[in-house]
Amino acid sequence: MSEDSRSPETFVAHALHSVEEATGSVVPPLHTATTFARDNDYQLRDRHLYSRYGNPTIDQAEEIIARLENGHDALVFASGLAGIAALFETLKPGAHVVAPEIMYWGTRDLMTRMLEKQRITVTYVDPSDLDALKTAIVPGKTELVWMETPVNPVWDVIDIRAVAEVAHAAGADLAVDSTSASPVVTRPLDHGADIVFHSITKYLNGHSDVLGGALVTREDNARWAEARTVRNVTGGVLAPFESWLLIRGMRTLFVRVNKAAESSLAIARHLEHHPGVEKVLYPGLQSHPGHEIARRQMDGFGAMMSICVKGGMAETGRVIRALKIFLPATSLGGVESLAEHRKVIEGEDSPIPDNLIRLSVGIENTEDLIADLEQALAKA
Ligand code: PLP
Repeated sequence: MSEDSRSPETFVAHALHSVEEATGSVVPPLHTATTFARDNDYQLRDRHLYSRYGNPTIDQAEEIIARLENGHDALVFASGLAGIAALFETLKPGAHVVAPEIMYWGTRDLMTRMLEKQRITVTYVDPSDLDALKTAIVPGKTELVWMETPVNPVWDVIDIRAVAEVAHAAGADLAVDSTSASPVVTRPLDHGADIVFHSITKYLNGHSDVLGGALVTREDNARWAEARTVRNVTGGVLAPFESWLLIRGMRTLFVRVNKAAESSLAIARHLEHHPGVEKVLYPGLQSHPGHEIARRQMDGFGAMMSICVKGGMAETGRVIRALKIFLPATSLGGVESLAEHRKVIEGEDSPIPDNLIRLSVGIENTEDLIADLEQALAKA
């Protein structure tokens, strides 16, 4: 079977190359070299010069991610935010950006800082409101539309194709933060996005032991060349060992995400009519506003959900503290299940309801997870 005909589950399990040619090793080697000796003609032996520009291990991680997203190329960074910052560095001075009202707070923080320094101007909009989006985008001036889907922590699903059409009609690029979906569940480039972003800290690595980010492009163009240059000159590349850990993590991406998604649907259905739960926010439920778009756009519904406990801060706090398997930690996409009381994290001013608990469902036994939630809800 030729390499190109392999399905993503297969090529990712084999880390693309299956065996190292020189030794037959079924595990990809870790190249730690920061520099590469030239040959007798003083030419580079391979394309590698110095690891800030990439090395074989970093390249392998990038190739896998690009293939997973059906993209032309990928770049990995030392954190998710380093990747987003590099993308924003590709914008012209004073460029106009359209971004969602609700998004990862760190991205919003970065945009605010760039706005304060007059590097960009930003209009915030609800991307599910296409008329508002059309009004927000200024033809010829808006360079980038940034969006996230599903939207943390309510998991609204944004129609990528519809947003891409509006952005492209006005000459803007669309970049999608697809961290909470993972490439198993959504491939935004297939729906018309120009750039996909992942915090690889989450599902791609999946073991809560690597901090990193990735950008993937649909095509080779001036913005992509600039993104690569920005990474080269600012040095925010993912280190070789982290790239190697990421490759190892990605080999189990499909089984991890599919198992977690299967448990999530079971948990959501179990809790939907639970007397201690006011509502369950999960795109896999028919009651969820994003369900129809999710069915069109996503393969399955992912493993992120939120539950609103019946009661307020106190009851919700008691549930979080009673959980034994779900760990009370921030982040998402790891093999271990996590629960977070978002209001406590985001503070008094946040519009997030007091009783919302965000769950990142891991790969533990489904019945154990349901039993854990049951016993904790009984303590509300
Ligand atoms: N985007 C989303 C949706 C995230 O959840 C996060 C981190 O939580 C980031 C971006 C930033 O990534 P990192 O923490 O790897 O810098």
